[in-house]
Amino acid sequence: MQAVVIGAGFGGLAAALRMAARGAQVTVVDRLPGPGGRGREFAKSAAGLSFRYDAGPTVLTAPVLFEELFALFGERLSDHVELLPVTPWYQMRFADGSQLDYGGSTAQIQSEIAKFSSADAQAYPAFLAHSQKLFEKGYEELGDQPFLGWQSMLKALPAMMRLRADRSVYALTARYFQDERVRRAFSIQPLLVGGNPFDTTSIYSLIHYLERKWGVWFPRGGMARLVQALVALGQRHGVKFEWDADVQTITTQGGQATGVQLRGGRHLPASTVISNADAGHTLAKLLPLSQQQPKALTSKQYSMGLFVWYFSTKRVYANVPHHTILFGHTYREVLHKIFETQQLSDDLSIYLHRPTATDAQYAPEGHDSFYALVPVPNLAAGIDWQQQAAPFKALLQSELERRILPGLSQCIVDEHMVTPNYFASELLAPLGSGFSITPKLTQSAGFRFPNRAADISNLYFVGAGTHPGAGVPGVVTSAKVVERLLFGSVQ
Ligand SMILES: Cc1cc2nc3c(=O)[nH]c(=O)nc-3n(C[C@H](O)[C@H](O)[C@H](O)COP(=O)(O)OP(=O)(O)OC[C@H]3O[C@@H](n4cnc5c(N)ncnc54)[C@H](O)[C@@H]3O)c2cc1C
Repeated sequence: MQAVVIGAGFGGLAAALRMAARGAQVTVVDRLPGPGGRGREFAKSAAGLSFRYDAGPTVLTAPVLFEELFALFGERLSDHVELLPVTPWYQMRFADGSQLDYGGSTAQIQSEIAKFSSADAQAYPAFLAHSQKLFEKGYEELGDQPFLGWQSMLKALPAMMRLRADRSVYALTARYFQDERVRRAFSIQPLLVGGNPFDTTSIYSLIHYLERKWGVWFPRGGMARLVQALVALGQRHGVKFEWDADVQTITTQGGQATGVQLRGGRHLPASTVISNADAGHTLAKLLPLSQQQPKALTSKQYSMGLFVWYFSTKRVYANVPHHTILFGHTYREVLHKIFETQQLSDDLSIYLHRPTATDAQYAPEGHDSFYALVPVPNLAAGIDWQQQAAPFKALLQSELERRILPGLSQCIVDEHMVTPNYFASELLAPLGSGFSITPKLTQSAGFRFPNRAADISNLYFVGAGTHPGAGVPGVVTSAKVVERLLFGSVQ
């Protein structure tokens, strides 16, 4: 088999490795100058110092999925990447000044919840048991299974309905917990995969059990080290990589893909094409004109956009943990604005990344490294980010300074930001969405973009828009689905 993989995001890299382990000749092409996609690294220099920032994912869960990729070649992840445990997994800070350290054992979590409500602390084991049931069905049984067409979806539906997949993550959480802050802390996870907790199927509450089962980790040197290790693994086993290689068209003949045509005209022949570019974008824009499906972009709801401000400081904020979630005053209301009425809110909910909390060498000595992420409406909202970015960043900076980073404005040494425009122009994400299509029930499993094109039988899809969905574990698992479709099993 001669396979071309379009895109070196986590999903594309995992697919390339799985194909190579099956003996295929594999070439990965990406339009960016290096690997990682949303998980690329930004390298910057200022004041004679080098700063780097993981652009996207920072919370590494289910490292077993990467161990599996190394094991395909008789190698071990731990020989190439050192995974550091993160403690706490997240710190949740609420607008009233209270905080909940999330993560650890059942007893630790219960004692944190008890700060808010002893009844809720008692309810936690039942919530965990529910999350485990969802994990067993949604992750272990269905996660890496192909869903092609109605039949396979119909087979899964009774089990999904028994688990009340129609209920939202927030509604499920509210069944167990009464305190609004506890409800927020245990329902926020869909935002990490592009969903509104009030609209995302409760199947995604499996994320809590997944975190409990395998923990939360950070690769020493950043997520980019993991990306580099995957590329190096591929190179050791014959996978070829081409950067700055922008695919213009997937060429076809008689209903079969024959390869890809790059900007500049070069054609790479293939017997199998796997697209890690957004699946909707691939169907609507990368096929020959007569086969393009413009509806792929309009028939689905794309996730929210992201505003991310990367910055380094010339002082160290030693008391700030690795992952902090700073909730705004409102929750339902701000999410409604982002996902439904598509307005920019000035009540910010912020995720703050401080990798130096786990890996002190991540920043130059005496310096600290951060990114602050705020979910915002995607480009359907028509917000002019050229105009809005600077005032929005100023608001974000003053919120951070007020709530968690005192003296921030005096000590920034390097900074840059990205808006939904970056996702649209560099990653070719429809509507500049952060996570491809949202994970609501009507866009889950068989309702996502299929992992194989309906009418081009050797064109496959991996990545956030496909089954099982966004997030690093999801996209790496989507490569298993493709392997199953091609070979009937996973190695
Ligand atoms: C800011 C941010 C924070 C996140 N945090 C987390 C987290 O903490 N934990 C977690 O698990 N997940 C997180 N996620 C989600 C996770 O990063 C993504 O779901 C996942 O990385 C997407 O991987 P993917 O395989 O879909 O490919 P992508 O990363 O989307 O990569 C696709 C690649 O395809 C390339 N491409 C597109 N079109 C073409 C073309 N025509 N020709 C050539 N190449 C092309 C692009 O250049 C890109 O490199 C985060 C995402 C973001 C944006």
